[in-house]
Amino acid sequence: MPRFADVVLPVPLPGLFTYALPEDLATQAQAGCRVSVPFGKKRTTVGLIARLHNTPPTGIDVKHILDILDASPVILPHQFALWQWISNYYLCSIGEVFKAAVPSKMKNRPTPCSSCELESLSSLTGKVTNRQALLGNGGEYGSLPHLSPAQSTALASIHEQWQQQPVCLLHGVTSSGKTELYIHLIAEAIGRGQQVLYLLPEIVLTSQLTDRLRAVFSDRLGVYHSKFSDKQRADVWQRQLTHEPYDIIVGVRSSVFLPFQRLGLVIVDEEHEVNFKQQEPAPRYNARNVAILMASRAHARTLLGTATPSFESYYNARLGKYGLVRLAERYGLVQLPNIEVVDVKEMRRKRLMNGAFSPNLINAIRAALDAHEQIILFQNRRGYATQVQCHVCGWVPRCPHCDVPLTLHHGAWRFSRQEDLTSTTELGGFSAKETSLPSHTSQTLTCHYCGYTTPIPSQCPACENPDLRPHGFGTERIEDDLSRLFPQARVARMDLDTTRTRTAYEQLIDDFAAHRTDILVGTQMVTKGLDFEHVSVVGILSADTMLHQPDFRAFERAFQMMSQVAGRAGRRQRQGKVFLQTMDARLPLISQIVAADYEAAYHEQMLERRQFAYPPFTRIIVVYLKHRSAVTVDALAREATLMLRGHFGTRVLGPDEPPVSRIASLYIRRITLKLETSLPLTPVRKLLLDTRSALLTQRFYSSAHIYFDVDPL
Ligand code: ADP
Ligand code: ZN
Ligand code: ZN
Repeated sequence: MPRFADVVLPVPLPGLFTYALPEDLATQAQAGCRVSVPFGKKRTTVGLIARLHNTPPTGIDVKHILDILDASPVILPHQFALWQWISNYYLCSIGEVFKAAVPSKMKNRPTPCSSCELESLSSLTGKVTNRQALLGNGGEYGSLPHLSPAQSTALASIHEQWQQQPVCLLHGVTSSGKTELYIHLIAEAIGRGQQVLYLLPEIVLTSQLTDRLRAVFSDRLGVYHSKFSDKQRADVWQRQLTHEPYDIIVGVRSSVFLPFQRLGLVIVDEEHEVNFKQQEPAPRYNARNVAILMASRAHARTLLGTATPSFESYYNARLGKYGLVRLAERYGLVQLPNIEVVDVKEMRRKRLMNGAFSPNLINAIRAALDAHEQIILFQNRRGYATQVQCHVCGWVPRCPHCDVPLTLHHGAWRFSRQEDLTSTTELGGFSAKETSLPSHTSQTLTCHYCGYTTPIPSQCPACENPDLRPHGFGTERIEDDLSRLFPQARVARMDLDTTRTRTAYEQLIDDFAAHRTDILVGTQMVTKGLDFEHVSVVGILSADTMLHQPDFRAFERAFQMMSQVAGRAGRRQRQGKVFLQTMDARLPLISQIVAADYEAAYHEQMLERRQFAYPPFTRIIVVYLKHRSAVTVDALAREATLMLRGHFGTRVLGPDEPPVSRIASLYIRRITLKLETSLPLTPVRKLLLDTRSALLTQRFYSSAHIYFDVDPL
């Protein structure tokens, strides 16, 4: 009979916590079951049994497990092994992985009612149904789409590639019908009695996709993302433990944590998307990479699909680490859209710009509206204006807690914590702390980093001039200008502020799909793999913010985003038209986008990456240091850099200030490690963790935060 249990607790402290098992609970205890344990002063918390043993811990006063909450494990052994890998690789505690992995409901102490619910679920676990027997005969689906010759060839090639290596990259142009291929592969996998994980980068995409998949696979499909209630997510989790799990899970990054019992296929759609990487809080994991690892451990196949492969995946494919299959034609042989570059500099000089709109774009929108076609406009800034400025003295209101100007908002909006919806581009790379502010309906100034909100002052506090002017165009302002320019058009806006709830974004997409709206304006959300029939014109209002990010991946991103949004145009029958407005019309990247020349963009960027030792030729780990005091954080950064130089020499760069160097009253510094890809990571991790503990044990730095971002995006 085991006498002790090592328990995972949802806390950032490293390691497992040992508790004594009272005799009456010992028979019931199993690894993977949840327990209620005392933790800290007076508090009890829900933990997870990692292992049972008989070795009394030394030097601590062992507390007792209070209760065991599950009759059978809710975390399977391979899941736990994956958590350990994540904690190790991404340099965070296993408790942080536990916290991110499991729906809140399963981490709370059960109320009497929810425990009987769990009991009824455990009884379900024992029930083998007849449906099991039906699996595998393949006769149960709705009808599968008939593939075009190009699609059939691609499907066969994917199977050939899988004979060689378990991961295959599908490089298929926009609207080539990648989804139809996925549907065939899914049907094959569940025909073999296997489960499928279909990962998407963004919740916005799930509703269109689940409609398409439901038509074929009906109730064999489960959906999992943060816009579902916590209870719904806990229910999906529990169901996956039964003998009647969903065969297919469609979800965003957190669905890699679900229990799969016989995973056979992982599809990562839009594999290039940065949203697969969690930024905040830990674990800062890349769900695409975790999914690949998870699949390989389960001896399952992985398909990475995209029209614009991440340069890292493409590099892997060229090295032969991944298989590579191309699908170069659009379904129905529709041509890729025609892209017209609009030189905004010249238009400005000739005074032809109307706000953010060039005459070329205005004319095209008008023609499309007249022809009853639809339009998508992409502007990578939400809010009304990116900042306001005193027209006399130049004063700009800034957030008192962060190092950024405040954004002007006109409409109703609400700030909330971003989970799977986090868009680094929209937010500038950080998500913020949980706050719940009331919604505002008048003009407000707001911080996109911490949620601070204040009414717009009636006059400039510096010079008392009442004329504060908006600068820069956010999606709200574009929306306003559209109703002025095209009063007859029905305009909808899709950004973080208008998609707070699941129904809100589903409504936006449904309305646009049913042509109840004519123009859809949005942030990067509209660039993703949405499929609308009647879109003939796409406008990229300003390419420039994308091109001038201080990031070695800026061009790769810009290429991907612009090619993707262009790909929303002319998906059926007729070729679409794209207007790309930029101040930098002569950049080679712009002509590569126009020519849809992925190879050229890839090779040019790879030359630079090799020359300047960036990924995939090196591996990057960033050390973040945060403190309330600028003086302390600078001292800490200097000392940390010295220590790290001692270990890693010239591989250490910095310290420096990130583009936004203060968020929510914490000053931020960072140190960048560029490591050869051949360097073994185990000693590197140990040195990093040791350096951190050495620093944090100094009294002066004890209230600092130090964390790591491994393979940052
Ligand atoms: P991608 O994901 O490659 O951008 P989609 O899978 O969304 O492309 O396909 C684009 C459009 O073409 C969709 O509306 C889809 O229904 C249609 N389509 C693609 N392949 C087929 C097929 N084999 N049969 C019928 N329609 C198809
Ligand atoms: Zn002023
Ligand atoms: Zn702020």
